[in-house]
Amino acid sequence: MKIAFFSAQAYDKQFFDQFNESLHFNIQYFETQLNEQTVQLIDEADAVCVFVNDVVNANVCTVLAQKGVSIIALRCAGFNNIAIDQAKQLGLKVCRVPAYSPEAVAEHAVAMLLTLNRKTHKAYNRVREQNFSLNGLLGFDLHGKTVGVIGTGNIGIAFCKIMLGFGCKVMAFDLIANKMLEALGVTYHPLIDIFKEADVISLHCPLNEQTHHLINEHTLHLMKKGVTLINTSRGGLIDTKAVIAKLKSGRLGNLGIDVYEQEEKLFFRDLSSNIIQDDDIQRLMSFPNVLITAHQAFFTNEALSQIAHTTLTNINTLLQQQPLTIKGALVV
Ligand code: NAD
Repeated sequence: MKIAFFSAQAYDKQFFDQFNESLHFNIQYFETQLNEQTVQLIDEADAVCVFVNDVVNANVCTVLAQKGVSIIALRCAGFNNIAIDQAKQLGLKVCRVPAYSPEAVAEHAVAMLLTLNRKTHKAYNRVREQNFSLNGLLGFDLHGKTVGVIGTGNIGIAFCKIMLGFGCKVMAFDLIANKMLEALGVTYHPLIDIFKEADVISLHCPLNEQTHHLINEHTLHLMKKGVTLINTSRGGLIDTKAVIAKLKSGRLGNLGIDVYEQEEKLFFRDLSSNIIQDDDIQRLMSFPNVLITAHQAFFTNEALSQIAHTTLTNINTLLQQQPLTIKGALVV
């Protein structure tokens, strides 16, 4: 059985080859993203394995079906890059890794928050230059601050628990309130109240039609002056131009993003010798109170092990025409 594996990095090969020792799939690794052009690289395959920035639109789905592919296996949780309706019509099975170390992503969100607040990235560079001055490094206590969490699924739950441990007041918004979090002290509120009251806002909901540009000029205007905004979910949740305007005006105090609207042209590549054509990310990178990481929140040993194990198990189970045992793993 053959798997065409797109957007492959050295670390993917390491973890997938390890878990494939017992399954013996023939995995063909392609470094390139899957899109309308690169889909033609597939000679024959039973499954394709894709990541967050592969483009699996309706045309790609059609070609995959023509080439005899029956499974689209996402090695991530989000599936906003897949033309689900087309895949379903063509009889393609789409599976994902619904939960892989949610703590990995939650902990990265906290790392971004602490870095922006206590400016450890600047302190590190300063001290290496023998500059021991504290000017410009002033932060605030997280203890006692109000943290707004949008989306309390696997990652949001892990993030809420960490913030409660810091002694924060945690306000949340989700379509469904989580009773366990409520018992721990998290309170659920309408979105507008979170925007108005939170000192820190962290996004953990999926990207879909309802959440696209959830953070926009209007919602940013509702927020407290100096608010810290963290996005480890999907870039499309934030209207980048609106955020740039609010950073320029000083209304947005800090921005930490592990995801970016136009990231598929940038992330997971070394572009250090290139001229970046994306003016918005260049502007974002120029702000002293913006921290950008290149979609690395998931990137822990534990998460990569779970991703490889679950993805190959999903493919193996579907090829045997068996139902997937992991809740939420089957998309269609
Ligand atoms: P999840 O499915 O467990 O939780 C998502 C939660 O969002 C659910 O509770 C759902 O009810 C809620 N939700 C849905 N629509 C909403 C809306 N309109 N407003 C508010 N809440 C809404 O997903 P998860 O595992 O917690 O992952 C969350 C997101 O994190 C994923 O969609 C993915 O985009 C992103 N993610 C990023 C990385 C990374 O490396 N940066 C890694 C994994 C996941």
